[in-house]
Amino acid sequence: MQIGFHGAAQTVTGSQHLITVNRLRILLDCGLYQGKREEARRRNREFVYYASTVDAVVLSHAHIDHSGNIPNLVNQGFRGKIVCTTATVDLCGAMLLDSGHIQEEDVEYVNRQRRKYGEPPVEPIYTREDAAEAMKYFEGIQYARPYQVLPGITLTMYDAGHMLGSAIVALDFQPGNRGPKQRLVFSGDLGRPHLPILRDPTNIDAADILLIESTYGNRTHPPIEESVEAVKQTIRRTAARGGKVIIPAFAVERTQLLVYLLNKLYHQGDLPDIPIYVDSPLAVDVTDIFRRHPEYFDDETRDYLRQAGDVFGFKQLRYIRDVEESKKLHALKGPCVIISASGMAEAGRVQHHLKNNIEDARNTVLIVGWQAPNTLGRRLVEHAPVVRIFGMEYRPEAEVVTLNGFSGHADQPGLLSWAQAFKTPPHHTFVVHGEPDAAQELATRLRQDLGYREVVVPSLHQTIEI
Ligand SMILES: [Zn+2]
Ligand SMILES: [Zn+2]
Repeated sequence: MQIGFHGAAQTVTGSQHLITVNRLRILLDCGLYQGKREEARRRNREFVYYASTVDAVVLSHAHIDHSGNIPNLVNQGFRGKIVCTTATVDLCGAMLLDSGHIQEEDVEYVNRQRRKYGEPPVEPIYTREDAAEAMKYFEGIQYARPYQVLPGITLTMYDAGHMLGSAIVALDFQPGNRGPKQRLVFSGDLGRPHLPILRDPTNIDAADILLIESTYGNRTHPPIEESVEAVKQTIRRTAARGGKVIIPAFAVERTQLLVYLLNKLYHQGDLPDIPIYVDSPLAVDVTDIFRRHPEYFDDETRDYLRQAGDVFGFKQLRYIRDVEESKKLHALKGPCVIISASGMAEAGRVQHHLKNNIEDARNTVLIVGWQAPNTLGRRLVEHAPVVRIFGMEYRPEAEVVTLNGFSGHADQPGLLSWAQAFKTPPHHTFVVHGEPDAAQELATRLRQDLGYREVVVPSLHQTIEI
């Protein structure tokens, strides 16, 4: 068999691993590479293999860096099944269409620039319509139910505890159709124990070949309880001085996690009596998908659901879809909380809320996720004296609170304890989905602490024969 590492190799985004076994080709994930505009466009547009030669796609979860290039794959001739969990099908239905819309808008901007220099226009990598077409190939399955994805290849998905519907992928097959069976396990993005809403990642006890993520392969996270306490204190402190709390948050997963925690704090009487808004159309759609899939929640959340009736709604909370309604928030006087996308404040409605509120020292910007270098979110975290929003300069005076405890990824101890659950170390291990330092350090720990033998950090487009 052969594995080609065509994305998320010594980097975090663009997950794409091509498995060839018994002349059949399965693509594990087909994510968008996210980075500088030109490079990203070039890398995402062209596949290094013919899309029509891929027999099936197995998708670990809905995040765009894992699913976001699927419409392009279908455009270029892929006609097989795209298999994932049922929640992932529903989430992709919202997220890929949103991504198509972003691609269209992005190209409009680029083409305006190109016109100025007399250059021909470029086409979007895919459109909303392409994304809708790609959805026809999706097929949803349940956790822990073996499914024949291609002749002689059985797929089983296990809960990865990273986002709604996220899966660890196991493929069982017989190389050359004879001899002992082999099992390939792909961790996907691995979650953390005790994350709200989600079940803990499933331990797997056997693998011959392992692909393991390493986003935080060299880090240890602070406990989530600390961050929950900090959210509570931040909202109380800001409300007491008459200010607003602006929270840039990804519309998928992070927003629902925050709403769930705020719901609990509210019912415990820990929050001041101020309005809370979720201002993002995608977040509204995605929250509805969460509501439709309580079977993916952990026991604690299901118990709480029985008591509270709705874990994503409570008296003070309002969801805002409409643009005009969103604009009305700008005129609000008095304390409130606004949760809005995008998560790194690079686009979306949160930019308007920041522009209107960061120069007032009573307000707070609450950062609840990782901020990439050169983003507006990162500039705020670094207390830049001046930031630019929509081409205008602003001098931030608002308090900035940064919380690192909400990560949906396992840290180094989490990755090692999951890897330790295999009864014997896998024969071949490939460390993917991490920056070089993180991947190398996890590889070293796997060798030294757990006695793994063959551990490789593959490079981009490397193909390895096993
Ligand atoms: Zn993910
Ligand atoms: Zn990822």
